[in-house]
Amino acid sequence: MGLRPHLLTRRTAGVASTTLALLLSTAAVGVVPAASAFSAAPAGTCVEPADVHADARIKAGGIARHEPNELTAQQVKEREADLAAALRERASRQSATVAPLATVTIPVVVHVIQEDSTRAGGNIPDSMISNQISVLNQAYSGATGGASTAFAFQLQKINRVTNPAWYPIVQGSSAERSMKSSLREGGKNVLNMYLGELSDDLLGWATFPQRRLNSMDGVVVLNESLPGGTATNYNQGDTATHEVGHWLNLYHTFQGGCSGSGDSVSDTPAEASPAYQCPTGRDTCSAPGLDPITNFMDYTYDSCMYQFTPGQASRMLTAWNAYRAA
Ligand SMILES: [Zn+2]
Repeated sequence: MGLRPHLLTRRTAGVASTTLALLLSTAAVGVVPAASAFSAAPAGTCVEPADVHADARIKAGGIARHEPNELTAQQVKEREADLAAALRERASRQSATVAPLATVTIPVVVHVIQEDSTRAGGNIPDSMISNQISVLNQAYSGATGGASTAFAFQLQKINRVTNPAWYPIVQGSSAERSMKSSLREGGKNVLNMYLGELSDDLLGWATFPQRRLNSMDGVVVLNESLPGGTATNYNQGDTATHEVGHWLNLYHTFQGGCSGSGDSVSDTPAEASPAYQCPTGRDTCSAPGLDPITNFMDYTYDSCMYQFTPGQASRMLTAWNAYRAA
C-alpha cells in the first residue's frame, strides 16, 4: 500500500498514573492541552482499574483533555520488569511440548456500540469493519511497506449493542467499565475492539497486556476512523493499527525522548517528542537516524505512517508469548 494520499494529524500525549495492583500496574491517563505540551491529568481523571494500561489518540485540533497513553519512565521500568518476569515465569512452567508461537492469528470480536439505528448514532456498516480487518492484516504483514510481523487478524464476530448509556464511550468512566465487563469475550488472545463515538475528541485508546486477564483489556476506536469513515483525515484505519500495537506491548516511538532505552526497541531511532502531520526529515535527537515519523507508533497522520520495524515485530511476538499465548 505504501504512503496514503492525505496528510493528517495524529496527536496524543499525557500521562498520569496510579499503581495499585500487585503485578505492575499502571493506569495511564493524560492530558494534552497542546500538540507538544503535556501536563499531568487532574486528580480524579484516572479512574480505570489499577492494573489497566491505557493509551489513546485524539483528533488534531480537538479539544480533548484526557488522553491516556504515554508512560512515565518509572511506568516503563515497571512494565519492562514485568515482561522479564512473565518470560521467566513462562520458561519455568513451560515444558518442551509448549513451544513459543512464531505466527499468530488473533481472533477479533468487534463490539459496535450504538446510540440508535442511525449512522450518526453509531450504526456503521459491516463493510467498514471488514475493511478495518484488512487494514490490520496489511499493516501487520508488512504489505504497506514495513516489517512483517507474526500477526494476522480474523474477524470472529460483530456484536451490535444499542445502549445510549454507553454512547459516546467515555474514557475512564464507570460506563466504560460496565460496557467492557458486560461485553468482553474470550481469553487473553482475543482482541476485543469497541467502536463508537468517543469522549473528548479521542480517536482511540488501548490497554497494554497483563499477566492476569482484566475485563478492561482491549482497544476502543472511534467508529468513523475506520476505512471509509467520516473522520476526515482519520479514516484510513490506522487508529486501530496504532492501538493494537499498544495492545501487543509497543510503546510510542517517542517514549523516553532522546535518552535511555526509549521505546525499548533498538531499530526505531530516538525521537524527542511526538511528530504530527508528516514532517519529512525531522530529526530531534543527536543519536543516529531521522525521527521514525512513518512508524505506526508515532503520531503522524494516517497517510504518513505505514510501517512497523523488525524490532517492534520481535517485541510484539515476545510479549505475545509472555502474556497472551495460551
Ligand atoms: Zn498511542
